[in-house]
Amino acid sequence: MQYCTDCKQLVEGPTCPHCGCRKLRAPLDADFCMVAELGFAESEMLKELYADNSIPCTERSIYGAGITVKLGVNLDRIRLYVPYNRYEEALQLKEAFFDGEAVLLPE
Ligand SMILES: [Zn+2]
Repeated sequence: MQYCTDCKQLVEGPTCPHCGCRKLRAPLDADFCMVAELGFAESEMLKELYADNSIPCTERSIYGAGITVKLGVNLDRIRLYVPYNRYEEALQLKEAFFDGEAVLLPE
């Protein structure tokens, strides 16, 4: 498993399939890795789930604030990033959550 510092994603192979760059390195525990790309509402739910599980999480809007103002926040796509040492856990939480399995959000 390699880490692309441009895309902030975990990738396989000698080049990044997302941006084509070859500047890959082994991931460090503190590297933020992209775990999900979601609509605004889903990203808010997932962020809450990570907060409940004490997983640090950062987000980045794909289109940026300018587009959001014009088109409305619901059309934006949000990328969520978690540290590498919580990545597996975050991925499992995401999958369980969107499969509708037993991840219960507190009231
Ligand atoms: Zn890349």
